[in-house]
Amino acid sequence: MSVPFKFSFHIEGQCSKTQARAATFQTPHGVFETPRFMPVGTLANVKTLTPDQLRETGAQMVLSNTYHLHLQPGEEIVQKAGGLHHFMGWDGPMLTDSGGFQVFSLSEMRTINDKGVTFRSPRDGQMIHFSPERSIQIQNALGADVIMAFDECPPYPASWEEVKASTDRTYRWLERCIAAHQRPDQALFPIVQGGVYPDLREDAARAIAQFDTPGFAIGGVSVGEPAHLIEKIVKVTTPLLPENKPRYLMGIGTYREMVQAIAAGVDMFDCVIPTRLARHGAALVQGERWNLKNNRYREDFTPLDAECPCYTCRNFSRAYVSHLLRSREILAFTLLSIHNITELVRFTSRMRAAILGDRFEAEFGSWLTE
Ligand SMILES: [Zn+2]
Repeated sequence: MSVPFKFSFHIEGQCSKTQARAATFQTPHGVFETPRFMPVGTLANVKTLTPDQLRETGAQMVLSNTYHLHLQPGEEIVQKAGGLHHFMGWDGPMLTDSGGFQVFSLSEMRTINDKGVTFRSPRDGQMIHFSPERSIQIQNALGADVIMAFDECPPYPASWEEVKASTDRTYRWLERCIAAHQRPDQALFPIVQGGVYPDLREDAARAIAQFDTPGFAIGGVSVGEPAHLIEKIVKVTTPLLPENKPRYLMGIGTYREMVQAIAAGVDMFDCVIPTRLARHGAALVQGERWNLKNNRYREDFTPLDAECPCYTCRNFSRAYVSHLLRSREILAFTLLSIHNITELVRFTSRMRAAILGDRFEAEFGSWLTE
């Protein structure tokens, strides 16, 4: 008889001037050290990277997407393959989102009621129904270490009344997600919604904090609202979530927003930004974005970042990456993705080290002021 897995979260260091903390989150597929950036592998792969290349970036937990994997190849095939870890060849910690965000942001012809959401598949035009139970059933079949509650993600802008109705529904759906969840080896995280309204965020955070789940998430940010509102939401919401559980800010991955969130007590982040920028020929270098197609890089034989330990920076020059981009060679996207993910993982792990040494505010405080 195997003993059921117990998720545990240990805070190892706390900043004396902000709410920032450094911790470890134990999952069935290994330890996740926080704070740390998580790359996104929408369709069970981080675009253009092999799992070995991904591991070398320092990434520990990787995201996949329930909505996209349900459409292709379907969770039955992933389950037959032995689960998502086996299917995609990643044996580290993994997280799937609930599909809520995509159902509300990508799908057309949707109808929403308390039962769930019906929408037209963008692949074949079939009508598909997602409910809290269905989302959890799919995520149980996929088998990630962390799974997310099915939530309604209101657009921006939306009125207080609209957001209030959708936040209440997200709460009712959470109770159904918890009841439907079958696997103790998967941590189900509830999601705080509430749009840009502090009172709704506070009510939602207090309500979901009552549940004894292994972690909590803040969702519905970065949906088009200005950056200062994201910061405000994070500052209002984070302190209301239990201190002894990981806090995950969904869909955030820019330098400043991550520093602000870490200072407020957030531990986990994900964003498609490093791989998306790579496919547009852009590199993230020490807080800046560079367009490698720019003429100035044609004869620049230095690495992207001489201080970066990644495979790309150890072996190739800016001129070479620029040449590959001009020639539309796929290797350009791989090399830039390796570097960009390494850069964001290093940025967050430098913050982790600073928190452990209580130097966070001294080293990163400049990001907290305009
Ligand atoms: Zn690099």
